[in-house]
Amino acid sequence: MNRRAIIQAGSIAAVLQSLEPVLAAASESPRMPSLFISHGTPLHAIWDNDYTRGWQALGRSLPRPSAILSLSAHWITRGEILLTAQPSPPVIYDARGFPAPLYQVKYPAPGEPALAAELASSMTLRPASVNADWGYDHGTWVVLSHMFPQADIPVIQLSLDYGMSPQEHFSLGQQLAFLRDRGVLIMGSGQFVHNLRLMGSRTEPVEPYPWAIEFSEVVGGWIDERAFLNVQHFKSLGELAVLAHPTWDHFLPVLNILGTVSPEDGLHWFNRGIMSGSMDMRCLLVG
Ligand code: ZN
Repeated sequence: MNRRAIIQAGSIAAVLQSLEPVLAAASESPRMPSLFISHGTPLHAIWDNDYTRGWQALGRSLPRPSAILSLSAHWITRGEILLTAQPSPPVIYDARGFPAPLYQVKYPAPGEPALAAELASSMTLRPASVNADWGYDHGTWVVLSHMFPQADIPVIQLSLDYGMSPQEHFSLGQQLAFLRDRGVLIMGSGQFVHNLRLMGSRTEPVEPYPWAIEFSEVVGGWIDERAFLNVQHFKSLGELAVLAHPTWDHFLPVLNILGTVSPEDGLHWFNRGIMSGSMDMRCLLVG
């Protein structure tokens, strides 16, 4: 793929066309697809662009989930896994310094305390418990406000333990995959390439860094080949991995979602493109 192609998100028609077969199959299957989302800047909550339209189109086309389990890069814990369990979790405005309208976005989706408690008691990788302090951080509400704007589907957030290895994060996805058969949409929200320090303009076109393109294509290729062990060992890419992810928080949801993949699932990329030089927006629909 040439560089010009990779900086442009697919048009809405192209997004829907490429996802059509999987969405048609999903509507007839009791198993809910799962989803990795590159959420990009928090401004996507109030922007209208190809990426936000891609999320909207997907939300309109997916079967209605019984609940949404969101694994967001913006809720990081160490040594434990926490789950939101309030009946009405608050929106957390955890991104500072943005225009006022961003802080007026509401996402009043209910929680699902019973499911959160069930999940907390079934976790084996780390001690897990329900938590009343967190709510919906911007990894969750920025995306869901486009995908399910009516905010009428219950949402649970599950924290990501930064002390867990990439292999354990993949295992976490495997342990959660059964939820797909209960109609729960498992959504990992991070960024396929995420280097904030080297990020360019949010609003002007910026040529992607060559290393951002390379990481995206190498790791994306592994996923296409279902070489998930390679993805779990992404740090073997050395300097390339460090440039793409100086910290790994935004890559952990990729590993979580790959753990939910079954052999019969298709893997479908959408919202391809690199923003601000260092922010790969590609998203993955599993189903
Ligand atoms: Zn983020």
